[in-house]
Amino acid sequence: MRFVQIVVLAGGTGGARFLRGVRAAAPEAEITAVVNTGDDVTMHGLRICPDLDTVMYTLGGGIDEERGWGRAGESWTVKEELAAYDADPTWFGLGDRDIATHLVRTRMLDAGYPLSSVTAALCTRWEPGVTVLPMSDQRVETHVVVPDAETGRPRAIHFQEWWVRHRAELEPSAFVQVGVDAARPAPGVVEAFAAADAILLAPSNPVVSIGTILGVPGLREGLLASRARIAGVSPIVGGAVVRGMADRCLPAMGIEVSAEGVGRHYGARSDGGLLDAWLVAEDDAADVPGVDVRPRPLLMSSPEATEALARAALDACAR
Ligand code: GDP
Ligand code: CA
Repeated sequence: MRFVQIVVLAGGTGGARFLRGVRAAAPEAEITAVVNTGDDVTMHGLRICPDLDTVMYTLGGGIDEERGWGRAGESWTVKEELAAYDADPTWFGLGDRDIATHLVRTRMLDAGYPLSSVTAALCTRWEPGVTVLPMSDQRVETHVVVPDAETGRPRAIHFQEWWVRHRAELEPSAFVQVGVDAARPAPGVVEAFAAADAILLAPSNPVVSIGTILGVPGLREGLLASRARIAGVSPIVGGAVVRGMADRCLPAMGIEVSAEGVGRHYGARSDGGLLDAWLVAEDDAADVPGVDVRPRPLLMSSPEATEALARAALDACAR
């Protein structure tokens, strides 16, 4: 089956790599990426959208492939100069090339353009070959509830502070989407679901990437109203994360760190959940009632493997 309109829900690194595979597997299709913005943060006056930038740079050929985030050929002069001023925060990796992106974005946002328009403008340079949409134009920021270092009492810190500064070492007890009540899906998101003939959940973090996207009021409803089948790809392979900190997020939500645990968390569409199909690694047995569970090679270790994974996910959307 050939798909004409494909929508992919995506976070940063896992989402971006998977999108590259979808683009290769369906070069003729119109692909829309609905990207998590819960990691977004303002630092040194700059608005930073890590997952949008990872998707844009990865698909546009500007990513640092080894790091998986930020620009290739990056230099760090501004960061060093800021540190020389002791200008907080000093723990966030702000590269010189990357800063140009944040400057353009911040200037446009300050001039009143919504994030979706700003993202489209940035993408005219990168030509990612897919339509990149933020999940919402409203600000939604993920905060993590952790014990305070001194008092031990629960305290909420920005996701970036938890992940980048504390390397996810502080035990999380909850993830909170600050601002989500006032958020709406960005223009084009619900329309893309309605027009889609395949919807894919990238192997992104189920809590702070996919979970955050699904938390935007109206988005989940738009997704479920689509006539397209929904196939998800497990980010958990062999009972462990491939990279990132999903193994720190899932237990806080009472979800087992396994392909089965995440599959059951998303749930069967026939039973009020999301999934028509769920791709798991060939060694991961997973019983998800009501869902077409398909064991497939899940590692995006080469462009060919990633394309094959995307094709398997699309196959699972065929009727
Ligand atoms: P982030 O925003 O950079 O954290 O990226 P995402 O949320 O998009 O993706 C993070 C998830 O991608 C992690 O839970 C990883 O386990 C998963 N991941 C990374 N590489 C692979 C891979 O090759 N295969 C699969 N199945 N999952 C992967
Ligand atoms: Ca992210």
